[in-house]
Amino acid sequence: MGGSRAGWINEAPNLLLVCEPCNGFFEDHPAVSYEAGWKVQSWRSPGDVAVRYADGRLYRLGADGRRTVVAEVRV
Ligand SMILES: [Zn+2]
Repeated sequence: MGGSRAGWINEAPNLLLVCEPCNGFFEDHPAVSYEAGWKVQSWRSPGDVAVRYADGRLYRLGADGRRTVVAEVRV
């Protein structure tokens, strides 16, 4: 597990529940994972990064644990 002490590390926008194979994919494919918001560079705020879900939509994750659609299905 990571060793970050950053305050936002356990805040809702940074907590995306994924299965082990998906997490492995994210680690093995960082470029596409940063592009899709599955990984977030340390200098960015997770709440400011849209994340692509399996339904194809991009969502913004809120501090209250809710998600908001920011883009419909990719064509
Ligand atoms: Zn998965």
